[in-house]
Amino acid sequence: MQKNVRRFIVFFLTGIALITLLFSSQLIQPAQSQSITTPTATPVASPDYELNAYPAELPPLPYAYNALEEAIDAQTMELHHDRHHASYVDALNEALEQAPDLQNQSVEALLRDLDSVPEDIRTEVQNNGGGHLNHTIFWQIMSPNGGGEPTGEIAQEINETFGGFSEFQEQFNEAGGDRFGSGWVWLVRNQQGQLQITTTPNQDNPIMEGLYPIMGNDVWEHAYYLRYQNSRTDYLSSWWDVVNWDEVNRRAQAS
Ligand code: MN
Repeated sequence: MQKNVRRFIVFFLTGIALITLLFSSQLIQPAQSQSITTPTATPVASPDYELNAYPAELPPLPYAYNALEEAIDAQTMELHHDRHHASYVDALNEALEQAPDLQNQSVEALLRDLDSVPEDIRTEVQNNGGGHLNHTIFWQIMSPNGGGEPTGEIAQEINETFGGFSEFQEQFNEAGGDRFGSGWVWLVRNQQGQLQITTTPNQDNPIMEGLYPIMGNDVWEHAYYLRYQNSRTDYLSSWWDVVNWDEVNRRAQAS
């Protein structure tokens, strides 16, 4: 009788250990990150993984279209996310349909090494992979609870590098304003580990130059034209009201 009880306990504990092992080794994965594909799903707040290149998927906006009204109107958000970003995703998938050997790569890996992409789809991958990555970052580094002074470690680093938050804003806005045509203005970390402001043309991402994008603002006209018309300057200065410093800090730590 006692032997049976002992046997049962050993059996029971082994079972628990096995289940724990299966979960921790991710042989059994609770359904979670899959849900990012459906527009109604709860978005993953801070993706630390690299983006799937194929199939590329449009991530849901992490807030309502009108959530950023302080700086960006709802119609712009809807068109920007549902049409512009969606079209980069679709075009990236279309390009990679023809390149099965690249389909298991991340968007970041493809952009870091564009020479490895066949020439006939290289520009498509650059523009649409870049577009997908840039906008995925962009939605995350904005928040209805954003704005105000920077917080956390990035606040101190900005002070040390640029001499203060307003100096940083000024330089960032100026760089964004000077970017001729369409493109992005970025705060990046360079290979020496320093913060730096830079801009990219079109949908290029700083990782193409070995720089880590910490935060970026989209200065394509589609990002601001409905409310600000031709005044990119006004858009650039209002945009700070929605900057998500928590996410900027997270990216700065990851950089
Ligand atoms: Mn855009």
